[in-house]
Amino acid sequence: MKLSRSALAADQTHHIHPFSYPAAVREGRFRRIVERAEGVYQIDSEGRRSIDAVSGLGCVNIGYGREEMADTIAEAVRTLSFHPVFWECTNPYSAALVEKLDQLTPANMQHFFFANSGSEANDTAIKLVRWYWKLQGKPQKQHVISRDMAYHGMNLLSASLTGLQPCHPQFSLPIAGVSHIMAPWSWVNGADLDDEDFGLRAAQALEDEILRVGPERVGAFIGEPMQATGACVTPPASYWPEIRRICDRYDVLLIADEVVTGFGRTGQWFGQQYFGFEADITVLAKGISSAYFPVSAVVLNTRVGETLSTNPEELYHGYTCSCHPVGAATALKNIQILQDEGLVERVRDHLAPRFWQRLEALREHPLVGEIRGAGLGAGLQLTADKASRSFFPEGSGIDALVARYTWDKGVIVRDLGADTVGLMPPFITSDDELDQIFSALRHGLDRALLSLEH
Ligand code: PLP
Repeated sequence: MKLSRSALAADQTHHIHPFSYPAAVREGRFRRIVERAEGVYQIDSEGRRSIDAVSGLGCVNIGYGREEMADTIAEAVRTLSFHPVFWECTNPYSAALVEKLDQLTPANMQHFFFANSGSEANDTAIKLVRWYWKLQGKPQKQHVISRDMAYHGMNLLSASLTGLQPCHPQFSLPIAGVSHIMAPWSWVNGADLDDEDFGLRAAQALEDEILRVGPERVGAFIGEPMQATGACVTPPASYWPEIRRICDRYDVLLIADEVVTGFGRTGQWFGQQYFGFEADITVLAKGISSAYFPVSAVVLNTRVGETLSTNPEELYHGYTCSCHPVGAATALKNIQILQDEGLVERVRDHLAPRFWQRLEALREHPLVGEIRGAGLGAGLQLTADKASRSFFPEGSGIDALVARYTWDKGVIVRDLGADTVGLMPPFITSDDELDQIFSALRHGLDRALLSLEH
């Protein structure tokens, strides 16, 4: 679709964009105006084709504009454009998605509740935690522990779980009943320890917080297996198994927010398989439908799921579009594409090894302090001084500078803040496109370095 002048003017004046500076939009300072996307490419209003090395927002894993997705969505719209799964109702699309997910997911993912976004799914997860503990006769177990640097969404509750400090003051958050512990971010918190010991120390922060709040009051701990938006903080191998042990010790439910890591990003279907632990509750979104339609899910293990799904009371929770038939058809087709094309295995066996080989080659760059991540997701920690691990002065926008110069060479990477540049290419990225991503990124780093020197 072509953008008309009048529509652009209306957008500039009347559209409050998420995670944007409203005043910049009012002045017409758009960063990019994208008209089309196909495969790994975005095509902007000036006809420039850029490789999207972040898969939109870490979601378009199968690539843009696929014909078979368009056909599936059109067929579902023609057949059943809407149907609520409220009041003991179902339909072929919703039921088929549940059957597919049940077959695909590991043993600890048994019972599914659907929503439309990661934020809604995280809110739902916490509501189900509260209900679960009430049914267990422990209604006081309502407190939830999250982490600094976490991103769990933007609703009042999910934004409270989010641990990125700038997300709180405008809205008087976090709400009561949520606290945050340190992130397993060794660049900042672990200079004195080796990986193994640092993972244990970072997990110890959970036990300390449970004891501070009182185990009888703590209902759940929530974490992303690998933090994505939060500077791509990635814990060492010792972290998650220790977190699981601590949750078990104090009877605290473990929630894995797999909104980004679910459906292959790490080279395993789920981040829990990559990091070696099993959550009680798993939250899925983004990659479940590759964002062709808004779909998210909360998945319960047997312990929680059997308790809730056999309860005789009505569940007073749901969304108009929970398990929307078109969304279900979209997710089903997306999963089928991942399976038929072996895309998760492609990430694990082919793309991720090449990706990390090329990342390693950047380690020597004067601006690169550390490279974090897993599978086909990584964050480059930029630093003013590798030895002291120092950050650039507040507001220097070094990561945005690198992203801008990288884009000059036709590749979109993400400035994540905390002097970190993020990469999450689609699973269909070719070898040649991967090489283009890294040559553009090196250019971006070199140009940013040059501008610092002048
Ligand atoms: N959880 C994680 C790990 C995310 O990365 C995000 C979004 O980026 C969310 C939750 C929130 O999802 P949504 O933007 O669909 O509400």
